[in-house]
Amino acid sequence: MNRPKIVILGAGYGGMITTVKLQKMLGRNEADITLVNKHNYHYQTTWLHENAAGTLHHDHTRIKISDVVDLNRVELVQDTVVSLQPDEKKVTLENGELTYDYLVVGLGFEAATFGIQGLLENAFTINNINSARLIRDHIEYNFARYNNEKEDRQDLLNIVIGGAGFTGIEFAGELGNRVPELCKEYDIPREKVRIITVEASPTALPGFDEELVEYAMNYLESQGVEFKLGTMLKQVNENSIIVEKDEQQEEIPSSNVIWAAGVRGNSIVEETGFETARGRVKVSEDLRAPGHDDIFIVGDCALIMDKENDRPYPPTAQIAIQEAEVTAHNLKTLVHGGSKLEAFEPELQGTVASLGEGQAIGVVFGGKKLFGWKASVMKKIIDNRYLLKLGGVGLLLKKGKFNIFTK
Ligand code: FAD
Ligand code: NAD
Repeated sequence: MNRPKIVILGAGYGGMITTVKLQKMLGRNEADITLVNKHNYHYQTTWLHENAAGTLHHDHTRIKISDVVDLNRVELVQDTVVSLQPDEKKVTLENGELTYDYLVVGLGFEAATFGIQGLLENAFTINNINSARLIRDHIEYNFARYNNEKEDRQDLLNIVIGGAGFTGIEFAGELGNRVPELCKEYDIPREKVRIITVEASPTALPGFDEELVEYAMNYLESQGVEFKLGTMLKQVNENSIIVEKDEQQEEIPSSNVIWAAGVRGNSIVEETGFETARGRVKVSEDLRAPGHDDIFIVGDCALIMDKENDRPYPPTAQIAIQEAEVTAHNLKTLVHGGSKLEAFEPELQGTVASLGEGQAIGVVFGGKKLFGWKASVMKKIIDNRYLLKLGGVGLLLKKGKFNIFTK
């Protein structure tokens, strides 16, 4: 092989960390590295709920790829991946094609919609900068409309969140801060607005520490968030939703439905013909796709089983970053002619979820529970640590979150 061609698809957590690590680990003449992404920026997916609520501007969440990737060293192709042809070692893009010796697939997640009627047409999802910006503008527009309508259009002021997993809870927390601002701005009494979280399980954040869940629910309820637990979202119409609890259906007016009830791997991966579960490929220990020693899969497109409970690890940024570090290391080994690759072992450092300004819950350091402002500070430390890892002190100072009590 001449100088090997490494192609990395997607500039999310997985793709970016793989790229910045590789540019440090490999000498200029050792490999050609190409990063393909839809946009010329990377975004912090973990902040998108703030952009969607309008509590944080999306420019804070976006990071220009050229600010952290040396474009003399890595070729950035701004294009959309359409399909993969592993047998031909080829990637088809909207505007061309690329060949590779080694491929890293980091194309991230899509909303899992479970075939719910009307969802695709009438609900919004928090997936990327564009979808988050649309949610912010849509809610604001509906608030602006309210006092200009002849009838009392309660649907314009009811915000429904499908799913009280981490995304749903974090978004509800941001709305708890944003709605009073919108009410002031558009002359709407706060008590007219409903934030309704619909969750199929009997509890919010199913499987998470009960004490922390109780804290989160009490706090969010104090901010005006309603919970409909044990309730399935069954259908989304243009101006209402249908939910079902104990076989009883109810229609709730809403023109602001945000679906946050689960994710799956990017459908390009499934369409490639890899065996998948919810669009995620069960990768080997060294993070390669089964039967394809030249393809690594990182982040939300990869599925790794937790041997302790025989269940998949949840798709998180924390795991995507760690997978990327191992992938970069393994690519270096292959480029240097080695064959003994490192096995991926996640080192879970905990989970912290924000509940809005200055509030959060979390479990860290192998079981220590954090509530309120302490958890919120921990969340900022986690976010800032990522920025430091990705782009050093310069990026941290530019994009970091430093105010302990606010954003
Ligand atoms: P992504 O971050 O989704 O990035 C994928 C990249 O691929 C994007 O840049 C996208 O533009 C690009 N792309 C996609 N399709 C194409 C295409 N066809 N062609 C070209 N480019 C393409 N996890 C945590 O660990 N902690 C948290 O606090 C946390 N908070 C979250 C909050 C929210 C609101 C959400 C939605 C998720 C959160 N997660 C969190 C989960 C975490 O964000 C994901 O697990 C993580 O983003 C996965 O990283 P990734 O690299 O696989 O993909
Ligand atoms: P999730 O799968 O974790 O939660 C989805 C929730 O929606 C579940 O509670 C489920 O019971 C509910 N649900 C599913 N179908 C429903 C229906 N028809 N009606 C009502 N409720 C329904 O999904 P998520 O919250 O989007 O999280 C995705 C991934 O991102 C997870 O791995 C999560 O851990 C991670 N994440 C982490 C953080 C954090 O660490 N702070 C924040 C956000 C997301």
